[in-house]
Amino acid sequence: MTPQSPTRGQPPAMDAPIRYLSTRGHAPAASISAAIAAGLAPDGGLYVPEALPRLDPATFDPHASLAATAATLLVPFFAGDPLAAELPAICAEALTFDTPLRALPAHPHSAMLELFHGPTSAFKDVGARFLAACLARLPRADARPLTILVATSGDTGAAVGAAFFHRPNLRVVILYPDGLVSPRQAHQLGSFGDNVQALRVAGRFDDCQRMVKAALGDAALQAEVPLSSANSISLGRLLPQMSYYAHAALGWWRAHGAPLNFIVPTGNLGNALACLWVRQLGLPVGEVRLACNANATLPEFFAGTDYRPREAVATLANAMDVGAPSNFERLRWTFADTATLRAAVSASSTDDAAIRQTLARHAHAHDEVFCPHTATAMHVLDTLREGGDTRPWAVVATAHPAKFDSIVEPLVGHPVPAPAALVAMLERSASAAPLTADPIALQHWLRQPGRG
Ligand SMILES: *Cc1c(COP(=O)(O)O)cnc(C)c1O
Repeated sequence: MTPQSPTRGQPPAMDAPIRYLSTRGHAPAASISAAIAAGLAPDGGLYVPEALPRLDPATFDPHASLAATAATLLVPFFAGDPLAAELPAICAEALTFDTPLRALPAHPHSAMLELFHGPTSAFKDVGARFLAACLARLPRADARPLTILVATSGDTGAAVGAAFFHRPNLRVVILYPDGLVSPRQAHQLGSFGDNVQALRVAGRFDDCQRMVKAALGDAALQAEVPLSSANSISLGRLLPQMSYYAHAALGWWRAHGAPLNFIVPTGNLGNALACLWVRQLGLPVGEVRLACNANATLPEFFAGTDYRPREAVATLANAMDVGAPSNFERLRWTFADTATLRAAVSASSTDDAAIRQTLARHAHAHDEVFCPHTATAMHVLDTLREGGDTRPWAVVATAHPAKFDSIVEPLVGHPVPAPAALVAMLERSASAAPLTADPIALQHWLRQPGRG
């Protein structure tokens, strides 16, 4: 097949299969099944649909559950694929919890979109569970178990571990930087056992990611131990994240006759891009603001300087410690040129001092507690309101504050009760094997008999 350059051409007819192309333009077009199975395109680019479909808000059932909204929303993305017939079952299996839009006492006409009611108390449960439900249904020629490698700064590893736990013929190996995730995150990561193993790496998140990339690119290793990945660039994680934005925005639009604006805590841009794509589909999403921590690659780009990826710095919102957002190529693809992109999205940076101050202030004034990532978005809303903005905003809450108790509790001055699922996970015993920050060490570990 000849390589296809992605374009933002005319939306395809609803029932015509969408082909998936690489953002780099040097990979053959793929079906959605193939794109989900592969994760990254063979040219190193990210899979994007050849064009985003247009959807009519009126076709969505006002009484639909989140899972049913997801199944309606994703139909055109799966049209013509063997997974299309399974889509309602995949959505029902993955989206077993709600993502409520709760009114905020601090500000009129504003709400919090709570994405932390899944099994590991962070929004990553949505994408991880959908990806697992897809991979479990995709036929594989190889009878040996497939090993999913995940490098994590905390939340992804737990969500992927929970989503694949006990699934036959699939196993997960989680790599996390030892000492650099919250104590509760570390416990979660090591609490699974069975087909989900955690490795605590004597290094940083970037080392974990480098080790995973080296393993995935090692043909000899792959021949012995079939490997795949579950990182945030997988379409199997990105597409289902559109569901909660569509569900919330459609509900708001029916009740208020107006689009809802969103402030999205942002690291690798997976969550925020899902929100922007929902707007591109023609659903009632208004303005989208990216809330970043002190890692200011995106805010600087949107303020007009050249895109300059860099090393990440450590912050209180550790899941957003990203200096080179992996979905930036997809963000670029979504808009015709830089000027259009800059006009369509805005971004701001919130440092640790402002995160601390926001957490303390809302706890004392309104008895509200957020996680440090959510606090970056709340700080953006506080600033907008101080500047006289009266539009309806939804602050996106990406994790439950109890996951970051060691940061949050001293600032809010009282214990934060953990959700039942988190309590159950913390009550299990946990263990993680130590590993040096060296790709060879990971290869040895994966090759050991009984681990393949
Ligand atoms: C992963 C994560 C983020 C960042 O999401 P991206 O999709 O990488 O932008 C924000 N908050 C929490 C709690 C997370 O786990």
